[in-house]
Amino acid sequence: MAKKQFKAESKRLLDLMINSIYTNKEIFLREIISNASDAIDKLCYLSLTDDKVGLEREDYRIRITVDKDERTITVSDNGIGMTQDEAEKNLGVIAKSGSYKFKSEMDSDEAEKDDISIIGQFGVGFYSAFMVSDKVTVITRKYGEEKGVRWESTGADGYTVAECDKYNAGTDVIMHIKEDTDEEIYGSYLEIWKLKMLVKKYSDYVRWPIVMDITHQEQQPTGEEDKDGNPKMQTVNVTAPETVNSMVPIWQRSKAEVTDEQCVEWYKETMRDQTDPAVTLRVNAEGTVSYKAMLFVPGKDIDNGMSGATKRSLKLYCNGVLIMENCDKLLHEYFEFVRGVVDSPDLSLNISREVLQHNRQLKVIGQNLEKKIKGELEKMMKDDRPKYETFWKNFGIHIKCGVCDEYGRYTEFLKDLLIFYTSEESQMTLKEYSDNMPESQKAIYYASADTVKHAMSMPQCEEVRSRGYDILYLDHPIDETVLMQLKMFEGKPFVNVLTEDLGFQTDEEKKAAEEKTTENKELLDFVRESVGDEKLKQVTLSSKLVSSSCCLTSSGPFTLEMEKYFRNGPSEEMRQMRADRVLELNANHRAFAAIRDAYDAGDKDRAADMSKILYAQAELIAGLEVEDATAYAELVCKLF
Ligand code: ADP
Repeated sequence: MAKKQFKAESKRLLDLMINSIYTNKEIFLREIISNASDAIDKLCYLSLTDDKVGLEREDYRIRITVDKDERTITVSDNGIGMTQDEAEKNLGVIAKSGSYKFKSEMDSDEAEKDDISIIGQFGVGFYSAFMVSDKVTVITRKYGEEKGVRWESTGADGYTVAECDKYNAGTDVIMHIKEDTDEEIYGSYLEIWKLKMLVKKYSDYVRWPIVMDITHQEQQPTGEEDKDGNPKMQTVNVTAPETVNSMVPIWQRSKAEVTDEQCVEWYKETMRDQTDPAVTLRVNAEGTVSYKAMLFVPGKDIDNGMSGATKRSLKLYCNGVLIMENCDKLLHEYFEFVRGVVDSPDLSLNISREVLQHNRQLKVIGQNLEKKIKGELEKMMKDDRPKYETFWKNFGIHIKCGVCDEYGRYTEFLKDLLIFYTSEESQMTLKEYSDNMPESQKAIYYASADTVKHAMSMPQCEEVRSRGYDILYLDHPIDETVLMQLKMFEGKPFVNVLTEDLGFQTDEEKKAAEEKTTENKELLDFVRESVGDEKLKQVTLSSKLVSSSCCLTSSGPFTLEMEKYFRNGPSEEMRQMRADRVLELNANHRAFAAIRDAYDAGDKDRAADMSKILYAQAELIAGLEVEDATAYAELVCKLF
């Protein structure tokens, strides 16, 4: 029989398929099953208006058979079938199918032209059979036709097509599995367990039964009896057809049919998580884009768990056919902890064959779902604050990173989800903080340290608190960056209690303070020189300290907290970064008076020792290590 040639474009795709080093070859089965399912859909639809079809809904099925000796896998359906013309048009040419779109994607992006690794992120249809087969035979008969068609191809060199006998309408796709190579054991696809596993993984929710002959071991009587007169039993292998897919996915069923508890059970089983999810969200959207979604916010941080489950686990389905196991294109990273499934018929036959990044429908679904997730979280925040705090402990960091990501693109969307400590026990949203502000308060105050307790104990906080103002106590290095990103909240600026001018002083007080600083200039310079110019940028008289003698702050945007964070940074340069240190002294404190007395009495050594001690104490209060602990201890002992 003369071979017909594939069109040039098909040939190139076919070449890619055949020579693909792509590791995810297993998707071929999903593709062939999807085609079979579509063909059944078409005939079933036709039967609504054509009673000659003669099949009831329960008569339709997809059958998978294996012949190990012949090394073939056959996927048969009793769907609409193809005429010879259609077989040639559909299988011999990449016409309007997704495969064509796939090819245009490949061609439009020169840089990625040879990057075949993207195959399999989406389906490429019928051609994927050639990833595992060296020959594909299609025997098909179109509904209403007398004769069947036999189409056969061994790959890029073309195909043959001829009339043949076939007793019913439908299609058999016979894949002749390649010989094993060093890299790939193609023969494993001939194992029933493997095929069953692939059906479960990718095609579990195809709505027509997928039937395979499955062999079980059974105990059967041998016909003989033992000495007590009981029938003797033997183990025999029994092979019987079995439907291997579960067909109707839980998320396709209505809320009336499936309780939330059942969804939770499904989550725990499928996602291998023993903890109840914090949020169960079910969406049934109909409109420009229709989809069903069942999403969960885990009850614990899955990354810390030992479950071995991956962080992202958002499965994307199109009509029950798995397109992607971990779809990272649907939700932004700040919601990457959300798990579950999204199923949309509108992704339709095409999406599995399209590059997902550019898919508009997917974007719409993603945006809608994000709004709903945010809504659920806000509801939890309002109705069950302890639960929200647990959620925040587990996943708050994702939201904070989201606020800082992409130059604040998502800040507006996410800012209402933020909560901060205002004491060791309570956390507030920015809105709550703002609503709680006394009239006299002009700014939102924050103090940052390694723990909330430590931040609260900072001497600089004392005055702010004494005025009845709340302080946000930040205990994570990213928190300061989050506030910097926000800049303001409801027109109120964020002020770092530890480093910034709190603006509490009246003009007169300021003037008096300046005069006092000028008066003490010589002594302040002396303190700085005693500690060492290289360590200390400035020594000032503090306007913030009430009962403490001193504190360490910084000037400029690089704070002590950032310095601490960068100390564990990946590069030496980062680890060496230092904030410009400012030692603030309380002019009304005994310690300051003591230095002044020693200095005035001409005992400069003693004044210098005391300066060094104060500096070391300020470092300790700020949560920094004292550089030379032994020297510090000796200095303190000298005072006794
Ligand atoms: P797509 O499914 O995106 O159109 P495919 O390469 O998977 O691309 O299939 C090409 C076409 O071949 C299908 O659109 C369909 O018309 C036809 N086809 C494939 N398999 C079958 C089948 N089992 N029964 C009937 N038609 C089929």
